[in-house]
Amino acid sequence: MNDAATLDTADPLASHRRKFLQSPDVIAYLDGNSLGRPLAASVDRVAEFMRDQWGSRLIRGWDEGWMTRGQAIGDDLGRVCIGAAPGQTTIGDSTTVLLYKLIRAAVDARPGRTEVVIDRGNFPTDRYTVEGVAAERGLTVRWIEAAPVTVADVAAVVGATTALLVLSHVDYRSAHMLDAPAITALAHRAGALVLWDLCHSVGAVPTWLDAWGVDLAVGCTYKYLNGGPGSPAFAYVSTAMQGIFRQPIQGWLGSRHPFTMAHGFEPAPGIRSVLSGTPPLIGMLAMQDMIALIEEAGMAAIRAKSVALTEFAIALTDELLPDATLASPRDCAVRGSHVTVNDDRFTSIMSTLWKQGIIPDFRTPNGIRLGLSPLSTSFAEVEMGVRAIAAALR
Ligand SMILES: *Cc1c(COP(=O)(O)O)cnc(C)c1O
Repeated sequence: MNDAATLDTADPLASHRRKFLQSPDVIAYLDGNSLGRPLAASVDRVAEFMRDQWGSRLIRGWDEGWMTRGQAIGDDLGRVCIGAAPGQTTIGDSTTVLLYKLIRAAVDARPGRTEVVIDRGNFPTDRYTVEGVAAERGLTVRWIEAAPVTVADVAAVVGATTALLVLSHVDYRSAHMLDAPAITALAHRAGALVLWDLCHSVGAVPTWLDAWGVDLAVGCTYKYLNGGPGSPAFAYVSTAMQGIFRQPIQGWLGSRHPFTMAHGFEPAPGIRSVLSGTPPLIGMLAMQDMIALIEEAGMAAIRAKSVALTEFAIALTDELLPDATLASPRDCAVRGSHVTVNDDRFTSIMSTLWKQGIIPDFRTPNGIRLGLSPLSTSFAEVEMGVRAIAAALR
C-alpha cells in the first residue's frame, strides 16, 4: 500500500481541495456523501446574489433569468454529470417530493399495470413514497429482498404487471453500484418504466442517462454536488417520457401560461412540467459552483480519484480494523464513492470521534460509512480517520 503522502502528491486533483472552506476543528471530514463542504466561491456567489441581484434587481430579477435558472442548471448538470442532453433535467423540490411526483406520473403513464417494484434495502424515503403512491393508486408494492440487487433479482420480479421499477444506482449503505443499463433494458423489455435514484452517484460516479435509455431519475444536490443543507434536488424526465408525463402537484409554475392566471390547468411543455411553485433560487446558488468545478476537473478524473480513495480506505480498514466487516464491494467496478464497515462497537465511539474532529457517518445498526468526496477529500484525511477509529476502539 502506498502511503497517504505519496498518494496526495501524485493526485492530479489535489489542488482543488484548497477551493473548499476548511473547518478549523475538523481533521478528517469523511461525510461528504451526506453534506458536501462549501466552496469558497459559493460564499461570494451568495453575497453577490443578495446584493446585486435580489437587492438591486428586486422583482425584475424574475424576468432576468431567475425563473428559468433551475432548467439552466439542470442542463449544465445533464452535460457535466449525468449524460443528459438539454431540456430533460431541472432543479425542483426536495428529492422526496420529486420522487413522489415522478413515481405518481410514472404509474399513471402505465394504466392497467398493478405493481411497483422496489428493493427492501432502498433508502427509507424512496420506500415510503413508493408505498404512499401505491396506496393512493390501489397498486401493489413488489419487494426485491436481495441486497445487493442483481440483474437476475430484477428479472425475477419484473413482468407484464410491472408499472414502474424504482432503484438506487449506488446503495446508500453498502455503496454497491447496480448495472443500470442492463436493468433499464430488462425493465423496458417487460414494458415497465424505470426511475433511478442518483443521490449517491451524482458528482462522484458518472451516469449516462440518455445512452442507457433511462425514463426518470432524481438526485440530491447537497451530497457530492455541495449545494448546502437542504439545497433543492434535480429531476430528469427523458424527452420520450415527457409526452406522457403528468405529475400530481398542479401548480401555476408548472402550467403552460403561468401569468395569464387562467382557469383550468394545462401542463407546461417539456421539463418545466415537473415544477409546481416558485423556484427556490437561493438554494440553487452553491451547487452552480460545484458543477462548474466538476466540469473543470472532469467526471472521468473525479471517478478515478474516487476509486483510488475507496481502494485506499479498504486497504486501511483491512489492516487497522481487522475485526470489522467490510459491507462494500471489493470490486471497484461495482462500488460508489463511500466505504462502509460494520462493527457492533461503532455506536459507542462516534461521540469520541466527533470530539476529535474526525467525522465519519454512522448508519444503524452498526455501520461506519466513510464518504469520500473526490474533490474535497485527501488521502491523508482518510488515513487519519481510519487510524482514529482504530484508536477509539482500543
Ligand atoms: C440522501 C437521500 C435522500 C434524501 O432525500 P431528501 O428529500 O433530500 O431528504 C433520498 N434518497 C436517497 C437514496 C438518499 O441517499
